[in-house]
Amino acid sequence: MEKKIDRIGVLTSGGDAPGMNAAVRAVVRTAQSMGIECIGIRRGWHGLISGDFEVLKPGSVSHILTRGGTILYTARSEEFKTKEGRKKAVATCKMLGIDGIVAIGGDGTFRGALELSRMGIPVVGVPATIDNDIGCTNYSIGFDTACNTAIDCIDKLRDTMQSHERCSVIEVMGRDAGFLALYVGIAVGATAVLVPEKKLNIEEDVIEKIRDSRIAGNTHFMIVVAEGAGKAYDIAAAIRDEIGIDPRVTVLGHIQRGGSPSARDRETATRMGYYAVKAFAEEKENTVICIQNGAITAIPIEEALKMKRSLQMDRYEILETVGIKAFPED
Ligand code: ATP
Repeated sequence: MEKKIDRIGVLTSGGDAPGMNAAVRAVVRTAQSMGIECIGIRRGWHGLISGDFEVLKPGSVSHILTRGGTILYTARSEEFKTKEGRKKAVATCKMLGIDGIVAIGGDGTFRGALELSRMGIPVVGVPATIDNDIGCTNYSIGFDTACNTAIDCIDKLRDTMQSHERCSVIEVMGRDAGFLALYVGIAVGATAVLVPEKKLNIEEDVIEKIRDSRIAGNTHFMIVVAEGAGKAYDIAAAIRDEIGIDPRVTVLGHIQRGGSPSARDRETATRMGYYAVKAFAEEKENTVICIQNGAITAIPIEEALKMKRSLQMDRYEILETVGIKAFPED
């Protein structure tokens, strides 16, 4: 039995991630197929407070599947964290006749969604962040594209590092999580990967690895540092002091957020956007659309926010086993 929904809003919030547009497109087109009107709220929760919106027709989202960023813009709103701010957002929803909102973003966005749902506006969350650190889902939109972008940059760096027999320290994004760094580190065959989840021991985690790599015959070294694990310039200085080689530092920064979404991000975003709209009709609102063991599932926001994802530390073992560890026995 499907519930009657006339109009929904869709917004993107928090940090942008490649694939957000694909999710917006899926929301608009799925809504259309169910006879639901779709309103695009610009600039996340901020736009809901100020009444910054546009009516989205199926044609409004043509040609955005391949585009990075978000056509709805994104923002962070301190005002939305206050009850007064959220009252204004509720008033906008009432004024627009919105029966529910699809909120595409990260944990912060879902915390805002939970508060809004408690004030009577149904919300469905869609996880999107390049950090892949949202506890309730095995995968968040944008991670694959960000990994590919980082890998592409590091492969290019490797060409020049190899030619000059240099050491490179590369800082990747990820905030307090090492998912991006470890995944990328494995994919580029890094000499060492530093993540916030593992307390840094510069001697063991970096210097010894470079020494081992040298013994194995390497003349160039790639150290991948998650932004939450330490500053790339500090790591480089420690390498210089300890081992006498002069590393080059590259901070990849916001370049990792951009670019056309990968196949995985387009496909995942499309499926998540579709199920987000279906969730309203099936009375599964106030949930986050998650991927658990490969399947899409809707988890209540409150429960979703309590869930934690931890880094699979066996990947460290894998990185070392197929990297430097294998060589001395040759
Ligand atoms: P990213 O992972 O890219 O940072 P995010 O969704 O976690 O994305 P945040 O800046 O943490 O990004 O949150 C986005 C917005 O959600 C905030 O600017 C704020 O408006 C709202 N928000 C966050 N936490 C709360 C909260 N506790 N109560 C109400 N609103 C919140």
